Amino acid sequence: MVRVHESSIKRIDASLKSQPDQHLDFLVKKSVIEKILYLKEKKNVLILGHNYMEPLIFQLSEKNERGDSLALSQMAARSNKPIILFNGVRFMAETAKILNPGKKVLISDLEAGCSLADPFTAEDVVAYKLKFPDAPVVTYINSYVEVKAESDYCCTSSNCLKVVKYAAKEAKTNRVIFFPDSFMGKNIQNELKQEGTSIEIIYPGKYDDKFGKCEVHEKFTAEQIREIREQHKIPKSSEDSAVLVHWECKPEVLKEADFFGSTSQMANYIKENPRLKKVYLATECEMAANLASEFPQVEFIRSCSIFCEHMRRITLEKILYSLENEVYEIEVNPSLRKRALAPIKRMLAIK
Ligand code: SF4
Repeated sequence: MVRVHESSIKRIDASLKSQPDQHLDFLVKKSVIEKILYLKEKKNVLILGHNYMEPLIFQLSEKNERGDSLALSQMAARSNKPIILFNGVRFMAETAKILNPGKKVLISDLEAGCSLADPFTAEDVVAYKLKFPDAPVVTYINSYVEVKAESDYCCTSSNCLKVVKYAAKEAKTNRVIFFPDSFMGKNIQNELKQEGTSIEIIYPGKYDDKFGKCEVHEKFTAEQIREIREQHKIPKSSEDSAVLVHWECKPEVLKEADFFGSTSQMANYIKENPRLKKVYLATECEMAANLASEFPQVEFIRSCSIFCEHMRRITLEKILYSLENEVYEIEVNPSLRKRALAPIKRMLAIK
């Protein structure tokens, strides 16, 4: 038992060595990290780490326990560990619970919300369904169980385009309701237009004054990206440098990117382009810090001060408290869970 715990400490130490600030933090917080890793082993806990967690928290998870929200929920479903501690925000831990009703799912701060998920209710989805009765509802994973329960399909930023097209084809319609991210809805619409597809995406803000946005990704502007390119010498379509942008950014920001996609797709892009030497990521800043230990040969431009305050509610001290006392458990109403599972399963079945 102790051997595994010690090897994890050595792994964290080695991963952070190339980043002096992070490594110093690690030395300062080493005793808390040791206690968490000890409890992880003793209580047989799966600790899942989202890409946006600060590096010390991200490193509590092994490589096969890290990723984006859907990948993490799927890891949870495959695991036989009785307790899951989700280092991310509440809708993510809730999705893990929907997929794993028999397991104890903990999150160290139940108030860790999301500006996309928090403002939308089941009633909002029902109102759209009444207004556009023939259009299937595709809901982004950044939503709570009540909203998922009213939806036909779930999607993630990795598969949104594919799911939207599938939903339209299955329903034999050319209109799809997309919830709740307005920028992503517009971005999907633009992509469909480019492909010459006639599907219309109905998203919050298109025909009403409701608007769904990620308070992190909405901060990036096209002008900033152009400045970063100039300052750091990252020309468009270069072989050894790139600007990668998340789907949740504004459409004009996507236009400035060399590549846009989900967090996992951005990491894959770097893996698949080994000539890259310099990368700027238009997404939560901790993602670059975490990728820096995975790709030490790449320089990640750190002129970034855009953090998710919801993600930052998760701290090492709170994690330790939650694990020690097995508190802050995610509870989901069983009948809602069943209804919310159906759109997730439909999404997973799409090849
Ligand atoms: S980064 Fe944006 S989408 Fe992700 S949890 Fe924070 S507010 Fe929500």
